Amino acid sequence: MDTQAINLKLDTDMTPNDSVESQHGNTRTMILGAGLAGLSAGLHLTSGYDLYEKEARAGGCAKSIYTEGFAFDHGPHILYSVDPYATQLIKRLLNDNFHAQGREAWIYHASTDVFTKFPFQANLHGLPVSIVKECIMGVMEAIRKKEQGDAQAPKNYEEWIYQTFGEGIAKHLMIPYSEKIWTISPKLMNYEWIGRRVPTPSLDQILEGALKDSSQLVGFNNEFWYPLDDGIEALPKSFLPHVAKPKTQMRATRISHKKKVVEFSDGSRQNYDFLISTLALPTVVKLIEDAPSYVVQAADELEYNSILCVNFGVNREKITNQHWLYFYEPDFYGHRVSFPMNLSPNTTPKGKSSVTCEVAYSKHRKLNRENAVERVVEDLIKTGIMNPDDTVCAENVKGITPAYIIYDLNHKKNTTIIREWLQEQDIYSCGRFGEWEYYNMDHSIMSGKRAAEWVNARVAANNEWAS
Ligand SMILES: Cc1cc2nc3c(=O)[nH]c(=O)nc-3n(C[C@H](O)[C@H](O)[C@H](O)COP(=O)(O)OP(=O)(O)OC[C@H]3O[C@@H](n4cnc5c(N)ncnc54)[C@H](O)[C@@H]3O)c2cc1C
Repeated sequence: MDTQAINLKLDTDMTPNDSVESQHGNTRTMILGAGLAGLSAGLHLTSGYDLYEKEARAGGCAKSIYTEGFAFDHGPHILYSVDPYATQLIKRLLNDNFHAQGREAWIYHASTDVFTKFPFQANLHGLPVSIVKECIMGVMEAIRKKEQGDAQAPKNYEEWIYQTFGEGIAKHLMIPYSEKIWTISPKLMNYEWIGRRVPTPSLDQILEGALKDSSQLVGFNNEFWYPLDDGIEALPKSFLPHVAKPKTQMRATRISHKKKVVEFSDGSRQNYDFLISTLALPTVVKLIEDAPSYVVQAADELEYNSILCVNFGVNREKITNQHWLYFYEPDFYGHRVSFPMNLSPNTTPKGKSSVTCEVAYSKHRKLNRENAVERVVEDLIKTGIMNPDDTVCAENVKGITPAYIIYDLNHKKNTTIIREWLQEQDIYSCGRFGEWEYYNMDHSIMSGKRAAEWVNARVAANNEWAS
């Protein structure tokens, strides 16, 4: 692991400036967007740069909403990483505020009024015997087909689900949950993104999880991290002493890639040598003057969903010990309900509990936002987590657009077209929406680092050529 960059930037007593001066000649890089990718790009750049942000505060999707003593995130943000560099960086940045714990993630089955542990496929215990049997028979049939070479390579996410888990698990959870979160049929999605996203336990693990109550198994829970104080915004805040001061409330409104000039909402114009953009790909393409029509078309075809975050406080302590809970049945308003007070007690005033429900919507599935809080309360009463006489204190309902990019069948083709064209114009697009990938916070941080390294290499090459 290259911890040198971490040491280099974090150990020096750097005061945030209006801009960071170049250590290598007069090259200026402009970073658009002070979310985690933009902040990480700044942290890893070795030449001068300016960081512009349209909002009043840095942090992007990793900001928190502070209201009436509660801290709610823009959709609960739990941290974890398998990347040693990202892990080390996050631990060093959060320092004393870093806190790790085992996860309590559950699935609610309204039709049988049962809670099972996440992931469903590894924790069938507790479901009616007929469902457990159907799921296990399905997995065994899927394995048989694979071993006998009956299965062809899946053409879409739905085929991948059937081939990996069989009919029972597909029918009872994977397909309904997928439709709920992605707002489109899994037939219309690819499965390149699966990676660590969809746990694929072995037959052994599936059988063990069906026969034993895994909630009792010590060490089974995976660990996640969450800051003790300040909600998830503690993470972007922790970058601020180490990067150039973001120029906030500066929305990029137009980009001339030929003149290398960006225009901002205050009417000002700034030149750049290299541009690192963390804006969503469709946004950056719209801002660019005269982008070619094939690039504009590729950007228009990108698919995404939005998430309505329904946040509220409850006037009762510890309504549950769970961290979050999945709902896959269509009668429930959202697909996931989280309890920030269990991520960190400091997110919630004493004597109260806090709830965030995420509800997915898109151009493919419209959302009725009326009585959102009341609908989530009703759903939680059905589960027994809230009581009919519980009262709600603070409320905050907020839509996030885009929230998750959708891996439609043209995702790879379209993102490649756009990103390659941008790079030819000295524009490096990075981050969750800049790469248009299903990126968590650690991925976005690493994406910003890659963008900085791309610029660093070009600056070094230019300097060598000039000397
Ligand atoms: C609902 C939801 C839940 C999530 N849960 C988790 C989780 O549990 N764990 C996890 O690790 N990750 C989670 N993530 C992902 C995580 O939030 C992202 O990976 C990360 O915050 C993205 O950072 P970014 O800098 O790439 O993008 P962003 O955070 O989107 O940053 C882009 C920045 O650009 C700014 N900007 C936009 N347009 C302009 C403009 N024209 N001019 C100037 N500035 C502009 C924006 O204001 C923003 O600050 C979740 C995301 C969502 C939406």
